[in-house]
Amino acid sequence: MAFIYKPGYLHTIIGPMKSGKTEKFIEIFANLKFSDIQGIVFNPAINTRDPVIRSRISNRWLETIRIDELHPENVFRHVSDSQNVMVGFDETQFFAMSIITVIDKLLEQDFHIVASGLLLDFRGEPFGPMPTLVGQAHEITKLSAICEYPGCNRHATQTQRLINGKPADYNSPTVLIEGGGYNEEYQARCLRHHHVPRSS
Ligand SMILES: [Zn+2]
Repeated sequence: MAFIYKPGYLHTIIGPMKSGKTEKFIEIFANLKFSDIQGIVFNPAINTRDPVIRSRISNRWLETIRIDELHPENVFRHVSDSQNVMVGFDETQFFAMSIITVIDKLLEQDFHIVASGLLLDFRGEPFGPMPTLVGQAHEITKLSAICEYPGCNRHATQTQRLINGKPADYNSPTVLIEGGGYNEEYQARCLRHHHVPRSS
């Protein structure tokens, strides 16, 4: 018999934008309502003002607790007994590197953790704590998207940042805050259509 709650277990869900990470993440926690396992989901405050994760492709959603991404240790204010508690982190790449230590401690305390996020940033380079967490994971769900370059249709592993419709420069900040006055958009792209120009 397989149990969905596994003590001290880390499951990472990775993939580019629009690869279905959110849908997969919501599915895992939505299924808990048929069990006596409690789900507690954290979202980095930088990501959204809305304490809810919504799927783009279904009308499913999940309530979350927003915490300061620079202080992931604040999760310990919200969790105590690990018995039958599954802890989720959405958009994990936005958390400070100290999330790795926080997750280590939660695993030592026998929590079952699901951490979803972008493995690579818009440049195609390792994004924050994600690669380390993938290395520590017991289970990895790796999703790909469909390249959005017109007519391509290949599998996409990259996230293309477009500013006013043009590929963003390599030296553009890793994280852009909304309301910066630029028209920022992200697309899933295959390697052939992932463009990162370098102005310097
Ligand atoms: Zn392509």
